[in-house]
Amino acid sequence: MKKIGLLGGMSWESSLEYYRLLNEMVKEKLGTTHSAKCLMHSFDFHEVETLQHQGKWEALTDLMVQEAVNLKKAGAECIVICTNTMHKMAPDIEGATHLPVIHIADATANEINRRYVDKVLLLGTKFTMEGAFYKERLEKKGIEVVIPDESDRQIVHEIIYQELILGELKEESKKEYIKIIQKQEVSGVVLGCTEIPLLISENDVTIEVFDTTEIHASAAVSFALGENA
Ligand code: GLU
Repeated sequence: MKKIGLLGGMSWESSLEYYRLLNEMVKEKLGTTHSAKCLMHSFDFHEVETLQHQGKWEALTDLMVQEAVNLKKAGAECIVICTNTMHKMAPDIEGATHLPVIHIADATANEINRRYVDKVLLLGTKFTMEGAFYKERLEKKGIEVVIPDESDRQIVHEIIYQELILGELKEESKKEYIKIIQKQEVSGVVLGCTEIPLLISENDVTIEVFDTTEIHASAAVSFALGENA
């Protein structure tokens, strides 16, 4: 089994999910007392989100690269960035560490294609919904991607940073998300922020739901166990 290097704490609410999922998935595949070999660097998310909202992406890239290199020095054999947004600098991390980065958008695109869904709504932070770094990776695999209108993007973004990241799961916010999802004519929705699956599940809507945290953890376990080799 390969050792997984996790860049976490973005936020720790979803890093907990990664840790649980990785271990549960390895146990399910290997049985008995098996669990995932992994290392995590957990950021202070306040420092991260402050730089994000100041648009200081170069400083963030430096931070991410530095911690990814540290994970490699500690023995990591691949990198898992436990957030959709911070895949913005996935190519820099891959370039600096020469380790495979298990890309959350590629894993999600593969799952969308596996379920024969051709048009999806992308929900996430404004950085993820409005940037090209994420959408283009889905589009490259033949998937049509739509995003909410500006005011809905603002609502989705604020709920992430002001509630989900703080562990607050509110019924009214869940209703807002469902309303935003139901407005679109799509056959699937990408929960493209690793905290959104804490609020919304496949039971809440009638279209296909892509939980990026679970999909990403599953891709990491497949890599660690050499299933794609
Ligand atoms: N975890 C979130 C994501 O998947 C947002 C936190 C962040 O900005 O990294 O995008």
